[in-house]
Amino acid sequence: MENTSKKNYRLVADWETLHRVFIRPEDEDSRLTLVKYMEQILYGLHDFLETHVGVTEEISLIKLSEQYTDTYIDKHPAKKLNDVIKDIIDEIAPRAVNVASPYFVGHMTSAIPFFMVHLKAITAALNQNVIKLETSKVLSLLEKQVLAKLHRLIYQFDDAFYQHHVQNSETSLGAFTTGGTTANLTALWVARNSLLQPISGFQGIEQDGLFQAMKAHQIERIVVLVSKRGHYSLNKACGVLGLGNANIIPIDVDEKRSIDLHRLRKKIQQLSRENGTRIAAVVGIAGSTETGIVDPLDEIGDICQEYGIHYHVDAAWGGPVLLSEKYRHMLKGIERADSITIDCHKQFYMPMTSGMVYFKDPAAMNQIVYHARYVNRPGSVDLGIKSLEGSREANSLILDSALKIMGSQGYALLIEHGIEMARNFAEMIRSRSLFQLITSPQLNILTYRIAPPQLQEEREKKDQRVREKVDSILDDINIQVQRKQREDGKSFVSRTRLPVKPGDSHDTVVLRCVIMNPLTGVETLSAILDEQEEIYHALFPQVENVIAS
Ligand SMILES: *Cc1c(COP(=O)(O)O)cnc(C)c1O
Repeated sequence: MENTSKKNYRLVADWETLHRVFIRPEDEDSRLTLVKYMEQILYGLHDFLETHVGVTEEISLIKLSEQYTDTYIDKHPAKKLNDVIKDIIDEIAPRAVNVASPYFVGHMTSAIPFFMVHLKAITAALNQNVIKLETSKVLSLLEKQVLAKLHRLIYQFDDAFYQHHVQNSETSLGAFTTGGTTANLTALWVARNSLLQPISGFQGIEQDGLFQAMKAHQIERIVVLVSKRGHYSLNKACGVLGLGNANIIPIDVDEKRSIDLHRLRKKIQQLSRENGTRIAAVVGIAGSTETGIVDPLDEIGDICQEYGIHYHVDAAWGGPVLLSEKYRHMLKGIERADSITIDCHKQFYMPMTSGMVYFKDPAAMNQIVYHARYVNRPGSVDLGIKSLEGSREANSLILDSALKIMGSQGYALLIEHGIEMARNFAEMIRSRSLFQLITSPQLNILTYRIAPPQLQEEREKKDQRVREKVDSILDDINIQVQRKQREDGKSFVSRTRLPVKPGDSHDTVVLRCVIMNPLTGVETLSAILDEQEEIYHALFPQVENVIAS
């Protein structure tokens, strides 16, 4: 069909080459080539991550962005696979962020066990789509089994319960999602729909929409209650669900920096007296993104039970702590929740992206059933019937395999290392006069700031105005030091804004550290503080000048 002799001189897109990229390597030669490529990926990237101890390369984002301005798609193939792989290893990887570095302790994205890369490759090779049985078969059953294992870890119902539901096509214990954001959205979707049930003349919110729902149920607004430290994905969820961001009611935190139960109860009582207001859910946080603090889950459970409110726990970060016998008590009461979010790509150490949502009531997800004529027919086991996502990969295979390879004990060791290393780090910060610990770690996250003793003293003895002035000087110092450390590329902590004392009226800049890499040790953390001290002294040689400015 094409003149193939040209192929030797330049790359072409023709039927023969097209066929070749689709068929399995038949002869020994092409097998070896494929194995060579896989080696190139696995070893090339792995060696790179190991030798490249820093976090980022010294190239400015502006310079880099100048190299990415080509907006044309080549008509003819420009490169062969091995050249593309080589380019990625040589040019992309060094300019990406080495999140696997033990010195990268700023975010919830970190090193993953090496076997995850293999498992990810398997799911790509199988390319199952668990939206329906017809494209996944056993993987839909495996997903139901993995969900039941985790459900059992959380809720601990009896054998009969799990035997009844594990492969039941009518009920669902939860679902895999693309992440915590969609897991939270799914949970609030269910909560919203349970509130706006069909009544005479109204076929339910999903069918008739929010405007009809308001009339039929005689309501004016629906609210969601969460502590001030709630994740912003809840805002997105309320936006998408038509509830509105303004109807997420932030509850103050108490001196422990977790939700103030007294204020929560008072707010619920106040809202209950408003005629047109309904509460869709109260959200408890099991490991807040900024501070790692866990809300008093049991007590929130009491309140939700008393007032008959849907109780959601956002355990995107903290969920896997349940695997540690030593620390699972920190999540006591999570089993009271009607729905729970847990991320796989966080403390299950899975590659991007995967999350999960769980429901205590196996019938809860009937609130979000969708059928289509060509898939997801009524009565089938198709997982897509009750899922926000359409097509999705078989992430349950990765989690199931990882649980087999690690055992709960393996995960427990990782979790415990993070928690204990964070405690060590907090001690280190307390013992250095240049630093001030802002939130001591409950799990493996803590915040602190650079605050020279002179400025700390100044702040203590004066009124609110002086306090704000000192804090704005410290904000500037912390921003500059954090930025310089990030740009130098050897280590990375992130920054956010929090009040210094839980009751303070204003937020200040704090440095945020998330410790989940098992290779992050005491020496690593001590070196990170050393570097921050050095940068601080170089940038601000005299504190007096800082105060005077
Ligand atoms: C990370 C996180 C989320 C959002 O999860 P994504 O996977 O990033 O979508 C929600 N809640 C909490 C508490 C989180 O830490």
